[in-house]
Amino acid sequence: MPVTATPIPILKDNYAWLLRESATGATAIVDPADAQPVIEAIEKAGGRLDMILLTHHHADHTAGTEEVRARFGCPVVGAAADQHRLPRLDDAVREGDTVTLGNATARVIETPGHTRGQINFFFGDGAVLLSGDTLFSLGCGRLIEGTAEEMFASLRKLAALPPETMVCCGHEYTESNARFALAVDPDNAELHRFVGKVEQLRAAGQPSVPSVLADELKANPFLLAPDAAQFARLRAQKDRF
Ligand code: ZN
Ligand code: FE
Repeated sequence: MPVTATPIPILKDNYAWLLRESATGATAIVDPADAQPVIEAIEKAGGRLDMILLTHHHADHTAGTEEVRARFGCPVVGAAADQHRLPRLDDAVREGDTVTLGNATARVIETPGHTRGQINFFFGDGAVLLSGDTLFSLGCGRLIEGTAEEMFASLRKLAALPPETMVCCGHEYTESNARFALAVDPDNAELHRFVGKVEQLRAAGQPSVPSVLADELKANPFLLAPDAAQFARLRAQKDRF
């Protein structure tokens, strides 16, 4: 049965994601960096939590993990490659491993670039991608630990997912990403349409995410970059923007 994903705004501009598998009611939380709003959202959704998923070790994605684990007594899933700097993992996963939530299965995709051990989760049924700080709406993560080549390869993996995929990323950066995207690709009609929708959502106080992968593929400059060299130039340009 399909998985649905709801963004929970936390900290300054982060999102934790509440996932629910509709047949069994199984529930997961992704990147619970602030325990209190996350626990409130879980309680409101019925008070059930089956697992915590972590995309990477940064504090703005992990800081509330122990408190949420203690409250619900559920297992924590994260990257085997970063086990030494993540909260204690009950399930340390690698590329191609699967994670089961009720009747749904997520595939683990390793996407180094922002951090060495970054992972994303893809639920095929419901087409939900938890893209962490790899792919943002109209942007991508900074290269804190990885190379441009690594990040480019990671983004290509995500670009190959089904076009209807809902991109559930770790931050509300869309409007500032849009300003850069419009500066480097001013004649892109799809981008202008995309930004119009984002402005409406934000003006109404709504999250701009999730977005649809098909739309990102036509508007996100980092997904439109044809090769690693041009991606590297674009990423460096954005860092100075
Ligand atoms: Zn990060
Ligand atoms: Fe982050």
